[in-house]
Amino acid sequence: MITVKNLSKSFHTLDGDIEVLKGINQEIEKGEKVVVVGPSGSGKSTFLRCLNLLEQPTKGEIWFEGQQINTPKCDIDRHRRKMGMVFQHFNLFPHLTVRQNITLAPVTLKLKAPKDAETQAERLLERVGLADKADAYPGQLSGGQKQRIAIVRALAMEPDVMLFDEPTSALDPEMVGEVLQVMKELADEGMTMVVVTHEMGFAREVATRVLFMSDGQILEEARPDEFFTRPKNPRLKDFLSKVL
Ligand code: ADP
Ligand code: MG
Repeated sequence: MITVKNLSKSFHTLDGDIEVLKGINQEIEKGEKVVVVGPSGSGKSTFLRCLNLLEQPTKGEIWFEGQQINTPKCDIDRHRRKMGMVFQHFNLFPHLTVRQNITLAPVTLKLKAPKDAETQAERLLERVGLADKADAYPGQLSGGQKQRIAIVRALAMEPDVMLFDEPTSALDPEMVGEVLQVMKELADEGMTMVVVTHEMGFAREVATRVLFMSDGQILEEARPDEFFTRPKNPRLKDFLSKVL
């Protein structure tokens, strides 16, 4: 579904160029749940943002569903609709109700008639246990509720893959579980997922593959049992000794 070839990304800063991604190769198949872990600043968010071209790669190729998407002639908006993204800080529109947040994109892009979009929104809200919040504003919701709405909003576009960037990192501890539960259900339904997280329990339980990113490179990747019980790279061993 997604192929990444020799992906590099540099940022220009006042101190000169910094290379944040240093030649990443990945092949993510339909139905896989890839969990990306690694120290802060190692390039995890940049990697995720390159996958849907929120960041333009400096070098390399990104292929999605059989087409290279980082070329000038590619209509990225068309592909991006098939890639749902959920951020650490929810990014809901504060002046719109939950229902409006969910229906805005499908209706504006004319993918759905307003009535159909609303029916779908209600169905999705029910699925995450928030059917009674359709007319609430984001400001009236808890962090966990906001994040479940953000997931629903992404799902309303009927994506083929969901990208999550530390979706529970901004939440109070008691709200982490309800968001992970929604993600687990999504995984069980067969959604292709790429998840950056510090929740090692989730990685163990849900991942088909775990990637360890350090200093802009993927230093190790394995099935979770292998990854957590028999890490090979010294930097991964060190990382796990701090987070487990
Ligand atoms: P992670 O998500 O693993 O914490 P990031 O991908 O956010 O890491 O960042 C990796 C590195 O790239 C950091 O050193 C960060 O400061 C730098 N970086 C990220 N975005 C930018 C940007 N827009 N301009 C300059 N540097 C950036
Ligand atoms: Mg990050």
